[in-house]
Amino acid sequence: MDTNTLADLLFPDVAMTEAELEAKYPPRNLPEGAIVSRMAPSPTGFVHLGNLVQGLTSERMSHQSNGVLFLRVEDTDAKREVPGAVEVLINTLKHYGIHFDEGATIDGDSGDYGPYRQRQRADIYHVYAKRLVQEGKAYPCFCTEEELTAMREQQEANKETTGYYGKYAIWRDRPLEDVQAALAAGKPWVLRFRSTGDGERQFKFDDLVKGKLTVTENNVDHVLLKSDGIPTYHFAHAVDDHLMRTTHVVRGDEWLPSLPFHIQLFQALGFKLPKYVHIGPLMKMDGTSKRKLSKRKDPELALTYYKAEGFPVEAVYEYIMTLLNSNYEDWRRANPTAPSAEFKFSPKKLNPAGNLFDYAKLTDVSKNEIAKMSAEKAYALLTEWANEFDPDFGAKLSADPAYATAILAIGRGGKKPRKDLSTWKDAKEYMGFFYDEYLAEPVFPERFRVAVIAAVLEKFAAVYDPADDSATWFEKVKAITTEVGFTTDMKAYKANPGAWPGTVADVSGFLRLALTGKENSPDLYTVMQILGKDRSLERIHRALKSL
Ligand code: GLU
Repeated sequence: MDTNTLADLLFPDVAMTEAELEAKYPPRNLPEGAIVSRMAPSPTGFVHLGNLVQGLTSERMSHQSNGVLFLRVEDTDAKREVPGAVEVLINTLKHYGIHFDEGATIDGDSGDYGPYRQRQRADIYHVYAKRLVQEGKAYPCFCTEEELTAMREQQEANKETTGYYGKYAIWRDRPLEDVQAALAAGKPWVLRFRSTGDGERQFKFDDLVKGKLTVTENNVDHVLLKSDGIPTYHFAHAVDDHLMRTTHVVRGDEWLPSLPFHIQLFQALGFKLPKYVHIGPLMKMDGTSKRKLSKRKDPELALTYYKAEGFPVEAVYEYIMTLLNSNYEDWRRANPTAPSAEFKFSPKKLNPAGNLFDYAKLTDVSKNEIAKMSAEKAYALLTEWANEFDPDFGAKLSADPAYATAILAIGRGGKKPRKDLSTWKDAKEYMGFFYDEYLAEPVFPERFRVAVIAAVLEKFAAVYDPADDSATWFEKVKAITTEVGFTTDMKAYKANPGAWPGTVADVSGFLRLALTGKENSPDLYTVMQILGKDRSLERIHRALKSL
């Protein structure tokens, strides 16, 4: 077979040469050991936790080594593409703090190795496709969908491996005349790889996460170019990661079965094989067994979910880091305020089997992250969240930033900060009572006489002075306690509870209910300082009326 003629027939328009491409995309001028990695997502409109796991791994590996991280949009499957998906993708990754040195941007590209959208690279792929045909390593296949389906059904009936291989590869060695006739008849064709692999032979491979693997050679003549001339993932991956000078391919381990084919492809093309980092899936417990997180069943797979639930980005980031490197938590304990970039990330520490996603753990991490923030930062992030997901609350927060910030400052800082909020969603329940519209009617415990509760509230309103320091404030509460015949001596009360109708704790409880509508709140003195005199007195009088 005259493969040069065949190549010219199939690719009459290829104008570029490989030498030109090599010159246009030269090896990168980077220090020894610098890793070039990428995120190469498909723009499906759905950005999931797995993207973040993969992205963070690539990001840490490249930036930690003073290398390059770029974003390549793998849009070869036009059917799956959702309008606006690239924008969603870029914004979401940016929101989670993944910084790309180059790659696709919302309205174009930035960097010297583009275009970074695969559909814009069709001409480039064709240069290599043509060469593979010239070398007899690829050939056109004119099989129709029906023929391929019939083939698969026959293979299934015979209990054979399905696929286009061996005797089933019916276009593999067709004479040139057949190809010419099919082309002349205008039949659509795909370009297939001519595999030289043996499905019975195995070889060893070293993956940076999975370790030493034994894999089976590929013997299937996989598709390189689809009938529209757009490459499959496999072919695009080989060409792009070669020309973009990727040193490390970090991707989900669902690609592991295709690896033998990818290795063949790099060899056939004469490209140096990158290092591979195959990441295991994210799983969750379902009853007593583990299963992969699924887009269909698990809303928590989508990154938008965490935003809506009110998890700060910092929390999701910290949690993913703890998932990826088990020593991250110890490091964080020892370096509570250090930027996470100072942690020495290692792909070798990733669990090859994947990770169990633990919602409770994420919540815990989030609680700590929120507790660590300054009141100003907490205010800014909470308001941003509320404006989007609880606009009524957002409007209240925005109306008086100093008031809201003072509320959020309660118990912040110091060695043992309060940990009231796991997510921004918790904030309304925690601090809503500071806003009159969210203040609940107090429900006083029935075991106390109404008259005694009223007496406490009246007495307190009479002596209350917002200029008091907390010690004086408490002395006043204690004085009222004694005046209504309750005790301030908790120990004595415990030993002999029948001797008094109640204690100073009950008196504080009445005040707390009147002022906050709740049985639990942060330190009441502080709460009253923030509420201020007018609001505090108004609430006490309101409670008195409700009795
Ligand atoms: N587009 C592929 C995916 O989203 C990329 C895999 C890779 O990183 O090479 O799974």
